[in-house]
Amino acid sequence: MKTYEITLIPGDGIGPELTEATRRVLEATGINFHWDIVHAGTDAMVEYGTPLPSNVLVSIRKNKVALKGPITTPVGSGFRSVNVALRKELGLYCCLRPCKSYNGTPTLYKDIDLTIVRENMEDLYAGIEYEKDSPNAQKLISFLEGLGAGIRHDSGISIKPISEYGSQRIVKFAFEYARSNKRKKVTAVHKANIMKFSDGLFLATAREVAKSYPEIDFEDRIVDNMSMQLVKKPQQFDVIVCPNLYGDILSDLCAGLVGGLGVAPGANIGDGIALFEPTHGSAPKYKGMNKANPMAMMLSGVMMLRYINEHNAADRLETAIASVIADGSSITYDLKPENEQGSAVGTSHVATAIIAKMNKAN
Ligand code: NAD
Repeated sequence: MKTYEITLIPGDGIGPELTEATRRVLEATGINFHWDIVHAGTDAMVEYGTPLPSNVLVSIRKNKVALKGPITTPVGSGFRSVNVALRKELGLYCCLRPCKSYNGTPTLYKDIDLTIVRENMEDLYAGIEYEKDSPNAQKLISFLEGLGAGIRHDSGISIKPISEYGSQRIVKFAFEYARSNKRKKVTAVHKANIMKFSDGLFLATAREVAKSYPEIDFEDRIVDNMSMQLVKKPQQFDVIVCPNLYGDILSDLCAGLVGGLGVAPGANIGDGIALFEPTHGSAPKYKGMNKANPMAMMLSGVMMLRYINEHNAADRLETAIASVIADGSSITYDLKPENEQGSAVGTSHVATAIIAKMNKAN
């Protein structure tokens, strides 16, 4: 039987506990994995003097598939985001975030099954920023003043590049995803009425790409209206394609619609390379408490199984997770109503319950 070489990055905060629980359920599917365990994040910073040691990139480039726990990004100071660096270094231009309602999750909504396709490398995440009062900020402000732009000298500046190439690539990905997953509609999200040359370019490119996929419906929505529509009637959406920032925000909104970050998986995909990780962050306040929900990372593992064409194992694991949620007796605090918090179980208990469900179904 084949053994898959997978890079495993436990991350920091709640990451290592979730990673261990996820590794257990993935192994229980019967698929053989050889885990190449490498460290990034705050703990790696202490040990290696950098939050992203070079062996992490070497391992992912070699194995082409990685599973990763969340990693803390200090706000305002400290190192830049390891998550953003990984996406850039590895060319992971697409962030795929399915949001699906499972019976038993704490939500007002039913029957949501949508997927966010987020551009992962451009937009305000390109990392082009100039600090207030820095010589480069002053130079840029003077240059912009020369073009007639009214801009205060005490401004910090973040630049939002959106290219035709990047837009084409992500919208094509969304349509190809829709086609191969028998989806019916793609919705492009933007604010082209205000940002005519960045979001406007994204929208014009999306309209052009859509013409090559006549069997799939295409529509566009302005991001503020989209947020309201998602809250009012999320079932009307299928595949949603967005520039980076809107994709980031809408992924959390959609995670909320289906029961929270504890059940929101994700994948970062490039050409022939993929890194799977939950949408949520490292929730540092729960570090080491065996409290956080491992299901988002496990569902990211389900996506990974599908990516390596182990569809049967993916279906069995997803069915077992859904069954544990529906059953309700082995779920973490975030899936429990306020008055039942006392009966919530811990991270490792959830893994044990899912493995038991899989074994019973065999
Ligand atoms: P967060 O996702 O860590 O937490 C938001 C809220 O959701 C908190 O109340 C948290 O306790 C809860 N939560 C998150 N995951 C949970 C889980 N699995 N089970 C139960 N509850 C869960 O977001 P944050 O607090 O804004 O960010 C914390 C750190 O994580 C920051 O440094 C941020 O930069 C980083 N982050 C990393 C990634 C990543 O590694 N891909 C993604 C997002 C945020």
